[in-house]
Amino acid sequence: MPKKPAPAFASSNLEPAAQRHIAVVGAGIAGITCARTLIQAGHRVTVFEKSRSAGGRMSTRSTEFGSFDHGAQYFTVRDERFEHALATATGLVRPWSANTVRVLDDSGQVVAASLPAKESHWVATPGMNALVLQWAQPLLDADRLVLDTRVVYIEEDKLDPQRWQLQTDGPGAGVHSGFDAVVLAIPAPQAHALLRDSEQAAALSADVAGVNVAPCWTLMVAFPQAQQPTLQSLGPQWNAARSTHHRISWMARESSKPGRGPIERWTVQASPAWSQRHLEDDAERVKAKLLKAFAEVTGIRAEPPYASVHRWRYAQTTRPLGKTHAWDADARIGACGDWCLGHRVEDGFVSGLEMALAIA
Ligand SMILES: Cc1cc2nc3c(=O)[nH]c(=O)nc-3n(C[C@H](O)[C@H](O)[C@H](O)COP(=O)(O)OP(=O)(O)OC[C@H]3O[C@@H](n4cnc5c(N)ncnc54)[C@H](O)[C@@H]3O)c2cc1C
Repeated sequence: MPKKPAPAFASSNLEPAAQRHIAVVGAGIAGITCARTLIQAGHRVTVFEKSRSAGGRMSTRSTEFGSFDHGAQYFTVRDERFEHALATATGLVRPWSANTVRVLDDSGQVVAASLPAKESHWVATPGMNALVLQWAQPLLDADRLVLDTRVVYIEEDKLDPQRWQLQTDGPGAGVHSGFDAVVLAIPAPQAHALLRDSEQAAALSADVAGVNVAPCWTLMVAFPQAQQPTLQSLGPQWNAARSTHHRISWMARESSKPGRGPIERWTVQASPAWSQRHLEDDAERVKAKLLKAFAEVTGIRAEPPYASVHRWRYAQTTRPLGKTHAWDADARIGACGDWCLGHRVEDGFVSGLEMALAIA
């Protein structure tokens, strides 16, 4: 990890005439990285986010038993620029000794073998959402991040056809106009829907159409009867596993991550194929099936006092765009996100950064 922290926003020498007002849609790691970089280059940015806080799929659910990272579980760092950016989040990013195994399902029989760690697993503390929240705070303080506001339509500005305007719903519903450029930092299917409906964005719409993103049903369970360090954990000795069980592809012991509470908690991700097949199923039915699979794989048969499921309609890229971002310089509209390059947190960061560099 880097040792040299950099300032949150570096100053820029941009001439006022060259300064542009850019709308960024989506406050996940891609959108916030893009917005921060554009501001560092001297531009004015307004970020629109449909949820009540920034973070996107790097999210954390708080419960009376402790937190769950029900989106991204951890991240890896391969790009030097990501490493440098993480240095601005001093004390917030910590390594997680995941002690991962591969679990083979054989009619309920479990065979586990240690997976050698190829690279370090990093987590934000106290929850995965903390990293983007910290990076988004200066935007929030400067009133440049509009929360609880979904962008539903993008079109040319009625008063100035050289610019863009956005229609939004939610508490901040209305028309926001006067943008020199628009960046969609949202999952590809959602970006495609907005672009397809906009006359001026046809070229970009075609670019994004080929991307595929799979869903993921996620189960969260807590066992307050088992607490560290007084009582040993329930079930397996490993903290995370990739699974070939027909329902489950990944599970992790949340309480083994640094800076989390001591109550034994697991996050379980259904496989992309199973999630797709059961996408529209009733949540209670999905919960019952995933609990059964969890018991089969971990051997933990105790009834969890807390069990909940979350459906990610767009979770993991299965066919990426194949380039860092999409940018139509004539129409001044772009799209970025993890789906440009893959399905990792770092892909979102690199895509948001490259998108901003292309504009700036
Ligand atoms: C279950 C799951 C497990 C994962 N595990 C890992 C892992 O272990 N390691 C890893 O590296 N990655 C993992 N990932 C992937 C990782 O979470 C993503 O790569 C990363 O968070 C994507 O960031 P992003 O900014 O591109 O998109 P997002 O985080 O999806 O951000 C998009 C934002 O746009 C907002 N939005 C959408 N539409 C609109 C609209 N119309 N108007 C306004 N706002 C809008 C959304 O609310 C969201 O906040 C996982 C993802 C999931 C779902």
